[in-house]
Amino acid sequence: MPIRSSGLGANPSGLCWCGCGQQTTLASHSRASIGDIIGTPHRFCKGHKRPIAEVYTIDEVTGCWHWGGLVGTHGYGIIRTPSGWRLAHRVYYERFVGPIPDGLQVDHLCRVRDCVNPEHLEPVTQAENIRRGFEARKNEKAYREKAYREIAKLRMENN
Ligand SMILES: [Zn+2]
Ligand SMILES: [Zn+2]
Repeated sequence: MPIRSSGLGANPSGLCWCGCGQQTTLASHSRASIGDIIGTPHRFCKGHKRPIAEVYTIDEVTGCWHWGGLVGTHGYGIIRTPSGWRLAHRVYYERFVGPIPDGLQVDHLCRVRDCVNPEHLEPVTQAENIRRGFEARKNEKAYREKAYREIAKLRMENN
């Protein structure tokens, strides 16, 4: 699996990559070493830096970006920002897509908690998030039950 660092590329949302939620200014000239492209937003506000290199592993089959940093007991990646620890997937959504509307949770469409791929994330209400989690668990149960039935059938045929 390829390992990529998020230290590369442009900043499409214009929000500071440290996770502070502030808008960065536009680069007046290009500087590849720090990812600046003239006329597009800087990745960080002046003086805001990420404390450690961020790394994630891309699963080429599912497209999930598995967080390579710290993961909380809840299974979500966490990232240190000037305002404290934040959920990594929320920070990545802000970076690559834009601000998360007030009061909304960021749901994993892929159901993979340590995934930070912004394409797999969607802001939803808490109620919708709970409903989707319930659906996923129900489907998982149905899937497992079907698998068990298949296994039982195979056993019968082999005996
Ligand atoms: Zn910042
Ligand atoms: Zn994913």
